[in-house]
Order: sequence, then structure tokens, then C-alpha cells
Amino acid sequence: MLVVEGLVKRFGGFTAVSNVSFKVDQGEILGLIGPNGSGKSTIFNMLSGTFPPSAGSIKFEGSEIAGLAPHRIINRGIGRTFQIPRPFRRLTIFENVELAGFYGQGSHSRAKADEAAEKALAMVGLPTDRRAPVDGLGAAGLKKLELAKALATSPKLLLADESLGGLDEAEMDQAADMLRKIRDELGITIIWVEHIMGVLMRVVDRVMVLDHGEKISEGLPSAVSSDPKVIEVYLGT
Ligand code: ADP
Ligand code: MG
Repeated sequence: MLVVEGLVKRFGGFTAVSNVSFKVDQGEILGLIGPNGSGKSTIFNMLSGTFPPSAGSIKFEGSEIAGLAPHRIINRGIGRTFQIPRPFRRLTIFENVELAGFYGQGSHSRAKADEAAEKALAMVGLPTDRRAPVDGLGAAGLKKLELAKALATSPKLLLADESLGGLDEAEMDQAADMLRKIRDELGITIIWVEHIMGVLMRVVDRVMVLDHGEKISEGLPSAVSSDPKVIEVYLGT
């Protein structure tokens, strides 16, 4: 589904992502882990069109998407969440998701956007009541809203950035189960970024590890978590 080759991102003289290649198969959950600052969000920013790569190729369903504008990438079927949720606080929960749906459906049909919003809210377990306000959502609620916004764009591939940040242990388990449910019930392929291994390892099919912008390990969770290079990086932080 996704083939990334030789991806590089430089910010001035600093290389944030250095020659990273990987593939994602349709229907899988790929975990992408690495310490803070290792380049995970930068990879998502290139996959979703926030900024173009300095070098490299990103092929999605056979066509090159590197450097396309964000709305074009969303319309091809790649949705994302942001590590730090920044909903429009003056809009209701429903309106935030409806807006994402409106943008993501690539159509100007309000009915379609509303339908997508309702489905997405039900999927993550947020109220579909149109007047429910954003204020009052805690960390877990805001993460669910972030997911609902991404789902409302009807992605084939979902990029989930640090879905566990700020959650307690029970909420982390719930969030992990929700990502699995999104894959199992909606058939959406997922790349899931976290800086800690934790519960991610029990949900993902495969995992890839970044350190200082470079891929240092990749494989089944069991193999990666016992890889000496990975252990060194995680003990060193
Ligand atoms: P992660 O998501 O793995 O924590 P990031 O991809 O956000 O890491 O950042 C990787 C490195 O690139 C960090 O050193 C960060 O400071 C730097 N970086 C990220 N975005 C920018 C930017 N827009 N301009 C300059 N440096 C950036
Ligand atoms: Mg990040």
C-alpha cells in the first residue's frame, strides 16, 4: 500500500530524518517507535504533506505523493492525527469532526460530512449529540476527538501520532484496543507512532524503530524488543 524509499528531511544543516525506507502492507498495523526527537512526527509530516521531503520517494497505492499538498493527500486516502490536539474550542465536538469530514470527503456535501462525522464519533465512543462542547473533554476525550477527526476524512491509511500521550494506564489500554478495532472493523491500515513501547507492542503486527532520524531496527514486536540496539537506545534515555 505504501512504499517509502530513501526519505530525508533536513532543517537547515540539521538532518531530522536520514535515508529511511519502509513498506506498509494493506490491513496491517505498523508501530513506529523511537525516543523523543528521533524523527517520528517529521516522517508523518512528510507522509501527510505538511512539508515536502528533502529527498526520497513516497508511493501510495502505486503513485508518487511526495510533495503533494495536504488536502490532496487526504483525498487520496491518508488521514492523520496530531500529537497535540488543537480542536476549535468555540465549535462543538460534532462541528469539529464535521469540519474534518467536509474537508476530507473532497466534496461540498454537508450531508456526507455529517454522516462521516456521526460514524466517526460513534466509532471512538464520543457523544453524537450536536451540542456537546469540547470544553470538559479530558486528555482521553481530546485524543478520541483527534481520532474521530481523522476517521471522518475516510482514510484507507491512518497515521496515529502518540495516541497515548497524557493517558493513564486504563485509558492507554482502551486507546490501543480502539486502534485495533479501527483496523479490524473498518479495515483501515494504520501506522502508529509512540515514543514508548508499552501497550503498542501487543497491538502492532510489525514495528520499526528510529533513533536520531535513522531506522535502527524493524520486525516482529518480539524480535525488536529483544534487539540489543533497541535495548541500548531505550536504556540510554
Ligand atoms: P519525534 O516526533 O520523534 O519526537 P520530531 O520528528 O518531532 O521527533 O523531531 C525530530 C527532530 O527534528 C527534532 O530534533 C526536532 O527538534 C526537529 N524538528 C522537527 N520539526 C522541525 C521544524 N519544523 N524545524 C526545525 N526542526 C524541526
Ligand atoms: Mg512526535
